[in-house]
Amino acid sequence: GALTARDRVGIQDFVLLDETTEVAVISNLKKRFSKDLIYTYIGTLIVSVNPYKDLDIYSKKQMDVYMGVNFFELPPHIYALADNAYHTMLTEFNNHFILISGESGAGKTEASKKILQYYAVSCPSTTLMNTVRDKMLMSNPVLEAFGNAKTLKNDNSSRFGKYMDIQFDSQGDAVGGHILNYLLEKSRVVHQNHGERNFHVFYQLVEGGSDDLLTQLGLERDVQHYYYLTQGECAIVSSINDKNDWKSVKNALQVIEFDETNTNHLFRVVASVLHLGNVHFDPDSKGHALLKNNTELNWVSDFPSQLLGVDANSLKEGLTFRKIEAKTEQVLSPFTIDHAIYVRDALAKAIYGQTFTWLVNRINESMENKDSSRKTVIGLLDIYGFEVFYVNSFEQFCINYCNEKLQQLFIQLTLKAEQEEYEAEGIEWEPVQFFNNKIICDLVEEKHRGIISILDEECLRPGDATDLTFLERLEEKMGNHPHFVTHKLADKMTRKTLERGDFRLLHYAGEVTYCVVGKLDKNNDLLYRNITNLVCQSKNTIVRECFSAVDTTNKRRPETVATQFKNSLQKLTEMLMAKEAWYIRCLKSNESKQPGQFDEALIRHQVKYLGLMEHLRVRRAGFAYRRKYEDFLKRYKPLCPATWPHWRGIPADGVELLVQHLGYLPDEYKMGRTKIFIRHPRTLYATEDAYEK
Ligand code: ATP
Ligand code: MG
Repeated sequence: GALTARDRVGIQDFVLLDETTEVAVISNLKKRFSKDLIYTYIGTLIVSVNPYKDLDIYSKKQMDVYMGVNFFELPPHIYALADNAYHTMLTEFNNHFILISGESGAGKTEASKKILQYYAVSCPSTTLMNTVRDKMLMSNPVLEAFGNAKTLKNDNSSRFGKYMDIQFDSQGDAVGGHILNYLLEKSRVVHQNHGERNFHVFYQLVEGGSDDLLTQLGLERDVQHYYYLTQGECAIVSSINDKNDWKSVKNALQVIEFDETNTNHLFRVVASVLHLGNVHFDPDSKGHALLKNNTELNWVSDFPSQLLGVDANSLKEGLTFRKIEAKTEQVLSPFTIDHAIYVRDALAKAIYGQTFTWLVNRINESMENKDSSRKTVIGLLDIYGFEVFYVNSFEQFCINYCNEKLQQLFIQLTLKAEQEEYEAEGIEWEPVQFFNNKIICDLVEEKHRGIISILDEECLRPGDATDLTFLERLEEKMGNHPHFVTHKLADKMTRKTLERGDFRLLHYAGEVTYCVVGKLDKNNDLLYRNITNLVCQSKNTIVRECFSAVDTTNKRRPETVATQFKNSLQKLTEMLMAKEAWYIRCLKSNESKQPGQFDEALIRHQVKYLGLMEHLRVRRAGFAYRRKYEDFLKRYKPLCPATWPHWRGIPADGVELLVQHLGYLPDEYKMGRTKIFIRHPRTLYATEDAYEK
């Protein structure tokens, strides 16, 4: 017999599957993946599977097809979700955000770029606004150059978190943008694991910069020449064309209106980091650090190029001595070689990290909409995905904690809130069980008791605190926690043993072993005062601006990195909770970045930890749409003679009359205490269509 569509391309919406088993879900994903159908719905949530090849589904023509069409009328697409959010925003005049999640390499950044393109290209526009849109689009290549890098998981891995608001006026024009950035992994500037690279921009400059520019910056056209570029031993990657990317970045900088001075100073910062990395030290007779030679240092400081424009002797002193302020005099205490390297790296990281933030601020200025009329926003959240490497350090700890928080947000907004609402509204409901990862969030962030608090305590404790004493504290306090495994307990609880110096967390997405080495330093993230004073006087305007904003006279200790990060995530969560949420759950199809490979075990693992099955069960049993009786009545009362133009009774009765008049079947809706619940969006679309006519 003839194949049905269901046999050929699988089912577009998991809600319509005959059975809600994991096997059925994965087999449907696989069937669709083999036909290059990478998107599938669970209600209005999108599941996306990374195809690792270019599909012809993102053209202008495709965008036009999805513009203004009801969600379920066309094959699943992120454009449909983008369009749905957009139209809901316009009709309800409220704020939205799109949460894009999934592990490293699953396709979050690609999805967020496609959605931004959709808004930039498809929304109505005026010529004036076109420049704002171009700026929004062009912020991507610049931030990716400075904030993305090749890792073992992803050749273009985001090493910072990004939340971007796209602002719309009441006509639906995209009129402005604003970016919030979260914790850049700046340790990458000075160290890369085997098989990984530094941030793209360094390679782009060395490969793509003009001869003149390189001469001016004192750079050689050879990435192998630079210590900061070669530790991962993979400076050249076949999937990356640094030369071309450099052209795009330069072009993008023009679009976002970087003038010549800014551009020039920006490149000088990049070059100065490369030079710093090549500053090496020799021991003197007492083992103290001496500069090997002055060439690189001179490039960084004031001669011959003024990359940073700081006094060469002071910089030299700062890199090899610590200035201790005694009562009446200053004492210079010389560094060992290791210590000098540490200070050099700290300086490189600080300059780069501050410059990144400066860059985001500048981009925000250029995308800013100064018109004060009321606007609504659609926010795009694209952060670094959950990641596990052979060695996991402070950075992975922060990244995975961040993912834990977003999973918690998802749970709160969908599984938990949804079920609580049914209960509150008195709708009959069979509860769906799910794993709540709040226990892991608490383990990390709880005041006085969580891992971050303990880390901060060790950072603040004068005297003999070290990474290992931090670990001991953790073991004392967390020893019995079901998601924390110490050295002592490792053999009993899990198959794998732990090295001394490691602890393991059982995250929602899998277990990760963290190495404590360097944690205290990275959390403190301090620069010696004489170095800070020096860069405050830099003739490079970017560097000077960045560091003079940091108040060096302030004697209070700045917040630690982890605590700042925790607070910024808290703020983000609160801000998102006040918006209407849309979800894209990205799945990685295979570990080898190959097209056409659907690794079932890998997919199954992600389906599990992303909570897709639970979400599906709640969706299937539940109601896609709900509105307060008053709101529903207000909008649709013209459709029924009994409610038009005025309904004098209680709103619920009016709604009941209205939906009976519209012919809703008893199974399609339920009346709660304050709201009407509609099982399937299709029902509402029919009503909406009637309203439009
Ligand atoms: P990270 O957390 O490391 O930043 P990510 O989830 O942002 O990871 P992406 O950078 O979006 O991952 O995707 C990784 C790679 O997968 C892309 O560089 C691209 O090669 C491929 N890819 C992802 N999505 C798509 C898509 N829709 N079509 C084609 N290729 C894709
Ligand atoms: Mg990314």
